[in-house]
Amino acid sequence: MKLHYLSIKLSLLILLPTILAVAQPNTHSIIPEPVSIEMESGTFTITPKTSILFASPSNELSKLADLLAERLRSATPPGSVNHHLPKRNYILLKLTPEAHGHPEGYEMVVDKESITISAVNGKGIFYGIQTLFQLLPAEFEKSEPGKTHINRKVPICSVKDYPRFPYRGMHLDVSRHFFPVEFIKKYIDLMSVYKYNNFHWHLTDDQGWRLEIKKYPLLTEIGSMRTSSPIGRSETGDHIPYGGYYTQDEAREIVEYARQRYINVIPEIEMPGHSLGALAAYPELSCTGGPFEVWTQWGVADDILCAGNDEVFHFLEEVLTEVMNIFPSKYIHIGGDEAPETRWEKCTRCQKRMAGEGLKDAYELQSYFIRRMEKFLNQNGRQIIGWDEILEGGLAPGATVMSWRGMEGGIEAAKLGHDVIMTPGAPCYLNHYQGSVAEEPLAIGGYNPIKSVYRFEPVPAILSPQESKHILGAQANLWTEYIAEPDLAEYMVYPRALALAEVNWTPKTNRNWDHFSIRLVKHFDLLEARGINFSKSAFKVSVQTIYDTLSSQMKISLSADFPGSIIWFNELTNGQSKGWRKYTEPFILEETAEIQTELELAGKRTGRISKKSITIHDAYGRLPLLSTPYSARYAASGALTLIDGLRAHPLSYHSGWLGYSGEDAHVMIDLGKIMMIKNVNIGFLYNPVDWIFLPEEVKIELSQDGIHFIPAPGMHPVLLTTRQPAALDYNVVQINSMAKYIKVIAKNIGVCPEGHWAAGEKAWLFLDEIMVNKPEE
Ligand SMILES: [Zn+2]
Repeated sequence: MKLHYLSIKLSLLILLPTILAVAQPNTHSIIPEPVSIEMESGTFTITPKTSILFASPSNELSKLADLLAERLRSATPPGSVNHHLPKRNYILLKLTPEAHGHPEGYEMVVDKESITISAVNGKGIFYGIQTLFQLLPAEFEKSEPGKTHINRKVPICSVKDYPRFPYRGMHLDVSRHFFPVEFIKKYIDLMSVYKYNNFHWHLTDDQGWRLEIKKYPLLTEIGSMRTSSPIGRSETGDHIPYGGYYTQDEAREIVEYARQRYINVIPEIEMPGHSLGALAAYPELSCTGGPFEVWTQWGVADDILCAGNDEVFHFLEEVLTEVMNIFPSKYIHIGGDEAPETRWEKCTRCQKRMAGEGLKDAYELQSYFIRRMEKFLNQNGRQIIGWDEILEGGLAPGATVMSWRGMEGGIEAAKLGHDVIMTPGAPCYLNHYQGSVAEEPLAIGGYNPIKSVYRFEPVPAILSPQESKHILGAQANLWTEYIAEPDLAEYMVYPRALALAEVNWTPKTNRNWDHFSIRLVKHFDLLEARGINFSKSAFKVSVQTIYDTLSSQMKISLSADFPGSIIWFNELTNGQSKGWRKYTEPFILEETAEIQTELELAGKRTGRISKKSITIHDAYGRLPLLSTPYSARYAASGALTLIDGLRAHPLSYHSGWLGYSGEDAHVMIDLGKIMMIKNVNIGFLYNPVDWIFLPEEVKIELSQDGIHFIPAPGMHPVLLTTRQPAALDYNVVQINSMAKYIKVIAKNIGVCPEGHWAAGEKAWLFLDEIMVNKPEE
């Protein structure tokens, strides 16, 4: 039985009868999934006496052998061998001729007597060692130094492995919030476990300059400190000074730490926009002369580096000279994103530059800026990476493009013959939500669960095979506006970074969510053992109410993203628990309750309990008739949305809200029988920033025959002046009329009002639950 996907070449090797003769192969939990792995039965046991050997007197191999010996806590130091291998009980690291393999690949054979890892270079050996560590049980990671009585059985297997993409990146923004050196090292260390090879370090931005530049000391003296940071999503500041920076020695320490883990560090020095950190220190580099403060808001600032002032280029060249002295990376990231043209258009120096260089607009001026910096970096043997805005106005000749505003920039660049790193906001921005807004810490909008990350395909189908070669790989980005602490950074990054690791490494045909999700469970143990504050949001159980057409009844359906998992649930009604039980099929809920859920995986409850309230009212499950069209963009579960007992969160537009664009909502509900109606409660959303307004008027009409309707008391508009999003209930009480049918007409205000930034555009009306209640008995 073959458990995994084999490359054709290896299948031939593995179909040897001797290997097939054994029963019950082992399983593995390696992430990223290797190109091919054949698991057999039986194990090799690592003991303190296992020799760690390397097959040539190479300094690099010797260091890798030391790493292995240290982690395995060998009793004897590693040694080199020339021809005589011991009979048994050894781990051998061996370099093979270059022609025999992939520059980042390795092969590993584990049999009863030994383990051999071979590769064309140290990097491949390093990845082989990472795979070996992942074959050990999770207890290995947990074990304390000095203890040797742990299980170190390695399953017998043979692995042939190499990455799909040469660029496998993770990014960290240290400007919006500063992260200490120790955390950066932990971040890099874990990257190496999952075979990432590039760390993109976002060192400068409007909110802080974070790298010591000896020639310009004010960059850190002034530019690394801001006086205040926004509180939550508001424009209000906390007025607490905030700052921090890395000395050049610290940066070098990080570069060396990463190098030992075969990770390249790409520094990003933002230009010409996102530069207030620099301008606060050296305002003469701006168009207006300042003065400026290190920014205390999030977003995009208008003040940027002046493109007409040669001093700016001199400054950047001096800065980059020091940057190149610290970072040996072939690539230097020069930013290039979100540079508003406002200041350049009014600056005489910038206008003069445009006239002198024959540039027709600000885009071409930005292009001039980037090309000039590229030329300088090229002269120094480096290449630039820029965000996809550098395409506008003409791409610098050797630039690699980081496509972040979707895939389009990457497609365009690849078609022009430029290299591309794919990092589209969805699903590569790990600062987006990974679970329901109601249960997650505040984040930048966008729902980006681990399953979406896993399903990301970096090579757009529209590209030809030749163009596709320009897609170097994908990168996970972590922007830290709302991430102030290392713990939270880890929570946002893990485990989603494991999904992207597999996207970057594993052949597309080997990727399979069900299989990944099973392996992922073991990695939760590994992450825990390494002290990583990873998120358990992936364990979330989805609670839905479904309309069973056969029985015409509402049922509660529970589901999870982990095949083979067991869902446990409990109902809490008025504080009374019904007791935890296993979910088998959709069930009927009799009373308003809070449904608690928890997943069990591989025989273990995950400890992540999700809660969802379901309100039972007299219109619950009475599928309404809608006579005006809602928008397909915000359709939730259609008519069911209005009577499913579930309340929507003000920030999750795509679940639980029915959106009407410019239209009124006309809803009719058949209650099934004539009953006394006491009150009607309707949920609306208000968030003017996104053009969502409360209704101008809400009318309710009642009928006993469905033909003749009489109006119930109406509802007056509620005036809200806040800019914060809010879910607001319109509640009509003391109706006290008999009815079988109820009509709700919610009048859309039509268009965004005068004074609104989108005045005259169609306004949105968002409806949630229509709750109808008879008097309590
Ligand atoms: Zn200017």
